[in-house]
Amino acid sequence: MPWRKAWVDPQTISDPAELRKTLEIRAYEVWISEIMLQQTRVAVVIDYWGRWMAKWPTIHDLAAAKPEDVLSAWSGLGYYSRATRIHEAAKLAVGDPDMKGLLPSSARDLDAKIPGVGRYTAGAISCIVFGRAEPMVDGNVLRVLSRQLGIYGNIKTGKAVIDAIWAAADAMVKATSELDGPNGETSREPNDRPGRWGQALMELGSTICTPNPNCSQCPITSTCRVYMEGELKASKSKETLKTMADIEDAACILCEPFDDGAGGSDDDSTQVKNRTNKAEVRQSKQATLAAFAFTRRPAKDATSSSSPSATSGAPSKATMDIITSHARRFPVKVIKKAVREEETLVCAIRRSDGHYLIHRRPLKGLLAGLWEFPSQLLGPSAKPDKGKREQLATAYVSSLMNGGKEGRKKTTKISCGGELGSVPWLFSHIKLTMHVFLFEVGEDAEVAEDEEQPRRWVASGEVDAESMGTGMRKCWKMVQDAVEES
Ligand code: SF4
Repeated sequence: MPWRKAWVDPQTISDPAELRKTLEIRAYEVWISEIMLQQTRVAVVIDYWGRWMAKWPTIHDLAAAKPEDVLSAWSGLGYYSRATRIHEAAKLAVGDPDMKGLLPSSARDLDAKIPGVGRYTAGAISCIVFGRAEPMVDGNVLRVLSRQLGIYGNIKTGKAVIDAIWAAADAMVKATSELDGPNGETSREPNDRPGRWGQALMELGSTICTPNPNCSQCPITSTCRVYMEGELKASKSKETLKTMADIEDAACILCEPFDDGAGGSDDDSTQVKNRTNKAEVRQSKQATLAAFAFTRRPAKDATSSSSPSATSGAPSKATMDIITSHARRFPVKVIKKAVREEETLVCAIRRSDGHYLIHRRPLKGLLAGLWEFPSQLLGPSAKPDKGKREQLATAYVSSLMNGGKEGRKKTTKISCGGELGSVPWLFSHIKLTMHVFLFEVGEDAEVAEDEEQPRRWVASGEVDAESMGTGMRKCWKMVQDAVEES
């Protein structure tokens, strides 16, 4: 990953101006990579990040960029408001008399002062760039630590659960970053450990401790609470179960009731049903965080790795299946909200000189500030058939074409080329179907003005350069194919 670079040790750069410049670039690089990584997979981000850095190598370059160029560079990543916020934040950081382009080093200041930087990104920049002992907890780390600590809770919306895991991550990174001084004292001077530690946990969550974990390859089984529980389940040894009962002396206030009978089902609805049917479930005693955080079982042999595959006493396949099946149930599965279904009429209006009308979306909300072919959302209960959709699209285009400035109203001849097809597009919370229409109008067509949604004509060959969402680009491809065939 090109944004992963050796930690910049301030002790190795004696010139303050050079150090400042180096940190400024590193903070900018890590910031952009972290925001992009929240959007999509690493493999996709590598390309986007590379193009972004080639276009705007410093935060000063980004601050001076045109908003539409920033949106265009973000096109395809989704959540376009994030691109706008990055741009706003760059302008703010460059214009701020204290920052002058260098992002703050403390997670608290990053979170408070930089728009669009939340707790996770603030921790990542502070750790990775400035070597500070700050927790960086993304979705993967929440899952890893919920298993390590044996917390059977909701890591999506359970505030107490999330806060407890952040607190544990904070304690861990602080312990990890302590350096031994020459006289046996410890210090927490900035160093490379916080960044390496945080990135290692995230990597573990994305490669081994995934929703379907591969515990046999895990390097930290010896501290893993759910691994230990899985072993006990497999052994069913009365002696060890009694030992567990002795130490499980307090019911955890974070964990939800755990139904042992639910087995390793991957079916979320089964698990949720089993969990919530309290009359039938047995609430296992879960250890408190204080009792179990950071405990380590004795190593089974002298090897340094705690990965079961690296030890002579590796569990049998049957035991490992029980362990991973148990681990897979952590954290609590949360039923996703149903996506809303919507339909929209996308109207490509082609002037006889080959120009197309586009308008800008509102500056807030879905796909904020992007350009698109004039589109009209259908009401939630409307389910018009193809003929009715064409009528609605024609009426919409007529309202755009024949609503020119007061006193200049005239009737523009509009010809509808029909519905070309439909493009399905999935957002995180909306399933959108875009019905694509092609209209032809004369060269003298006059367009209604709208201050909130500016409109303009662009030549066919320039549409690709506009900042459009990926779904709208698919509609454009459909239009191009239809025009070529006609
Ligand atoms: S032992 Fe299994 S559940 Fe525990 S951290 Fe490792 S992969 Fe995750």
